[in-house]
Amino acid sequence: MVKSSKLPGFYKLSIEERQKIVKEFAELTPEEISLLSNSGSLTLDIADRMIENVIGVMHIPLGIATNFLINGKEYLIPMAIEEPSVVAAASNGAKMFRSSGGIYTNSTEPLMIGQVQLVNIRDPYSARVKILREKDKILEVANEKDPVLVSLGGGAKALNAKVIDTIRGKMLIVELLIDCKDAMGANVVNTMCEAVAPILAELSGGDYRLRIVSNLATYRLVRATGMVNKEILGGEKTVDRIIDAYAFALADPYRATTHNKGIMNGISAIALATGNDTRAIEAGAHAYAAKNGRYRPLSVWEKNEEGDLVGSLELPLAVGIIGGATRSNPLAKVCLKILGVKTARELAEVMCAVGLAQNLAALKALATEGIQRGHMELHARNIAIMAGAKGDLIDEVAKRLVEEGVIRIDKAKEILRELGSL
Ligand code: NAD
Repeated sequence: MVKSSKLPGFYKLSIEERQKIVKEFAELTPEEISLLSNSGSLTLDIADRMIENVIGVMHIPLGIATNFLINGKEYLIPMAIEEPSVVAAASNGAKMFRSSGGIYTNSTEPLMIGQVQLVNIRDPYSARVKILREKDKILEVANEKDPVLVSLGGGAKALNAKVIDTIRGKMLIVELLIDCKDAMGANVVNTMCEAVAPILAELSGGDYRLRIVSNLATYRLVRATGMVNKEILGGEKTVDRIIDAYAFALADPYRATTHNKGIMNGISAIALATGNDTRAIEAGAHAYAAKNGRYRPLSVWEKNEEGDLVGSLELPLAVGIIGGATRSNPLAKVCLKILGVKTARELAEVMCAVGLAQNLAALKALATEGIQRGHMELHARNIAIMAGAKGDLIDEVAKRLVEEGVIRIDKAKEILRELGSL
């Protein structure tokens, strides 16, 4: 079977029909499909081992975004998200890129930064040099903590040290650069930082305090680029409107925040579906957006010589396919299998591509017809549910709300009363 993520009409199928397509695409087993059908697949027993004070499991819809062609490979994208329109928009953005060859990505090695804070040092600048001179010994001690990672070619690779001025005086911050391979790496990094801290304190003649990963993973960058032919967008005028929208975000942090929120709609939904740490990713992305001292859009939109639209997105993405909840949550494992990614880097690149497609779809809608029409159609279903509609009545009430152009809970209740079900 030739695999394609181009699945016109996927949204019109029943859940079972969609599952069948995904099953064939990702070669899922009947057990894996039953995990998707059974919203209780994360059992209380597993949940109780994942966090503290468990009293239940919170469910979120899991959808599939279609049309993704990334570096010439077909991907179906699992997205866990409560917000309507995001999955449809991602698929729509991917469709536009697809018609011009898809999205291309690349990334750096998965290097994370671990920080050790040193205080009460008499001469922090001399201490810095002393520590840099002992770099090899320090890295060796760090690597003794994770022979598995080292055997895979990962581990602590380099060391930096910087003196910073703080409200509590000068401090020496030592940073370990650790290749985390297919793990997100927070545990790995924290363990190594704790292991080397006593040696650093001794070398500096001071005391250690914090020993923790930095979520601003500037050595773990991902980049996605894609082109969309102007005809696909309805002409060069739409290209100009999209670039106007980007210019607005570039000049105004209030708009840039929402621009980036749209990008993160796609990225965080995959992070959640694959058991990754959404807060770590969000923190890193927004800090990266402000790296030059002012908050800016994470993506760039330009016009090429032919008048076509070219977009690119760059951000740090610390994600794993091993460790954390990626293996403990049974559905996260199924989502990783649907994605078919072989490394954490490939996962990060796919996430970046989805963020770019998400951004394109939002900008196109915003710059032309506005997002409310598409958004409200889906939102109408939520309003219908809130008003008390059940089963087939949900769609019927939502349809009436859209037709009448009034998408409000009081109107939904009125319709339900008319239909005799309230
Ligand atoms: P982990 O410690 O569960 O797993 C990583 C380990 O798996 C490595 O130490 C290695 O020994 C082993 N391993 C086996 N095969 C590997 C491979 N191919 N590549 C890499 N490692 C391999 O996971 P982690 O990624 O170190 O930690 C992630 C967790 O830490 C997340 O749940 C996150 O929420 C949490 N956390 C985050 C922060 C933060 O972001 N600030 C802080 C603390 C904890």
